[in-house]
Amino acid sequence: MEINTRKVNESIKCTVDECKYHCETADYCSLDMIKVGAHESCPKDSQCVDCQSFAPDVTKMTK
Ligand code: SF4
Repeated sequence: MEINTRKVNESIKCTVDECKYHCETADYCSLDMIKVGAHESCPKDSQCVDCQSFAPDVTKMTK
């Protein structure tokens, strides 16, 4: 399945459309795999972990 030029990986749902790997018109990642990590030393909920494959989509950046 192709949306724009980025493929949809239906195994990785994501709503971060500020990321350059986001599928733009669907809430999915386009990468084959991602790396997830914790930014807390002892994570206790989902807010403590992040996608570490994120890269900003510079076309969507504002000052
Ligand atoms: S790399 Fe991470 S943040 Fe970016 S679209 Fe994929 S899952 Fe979302």
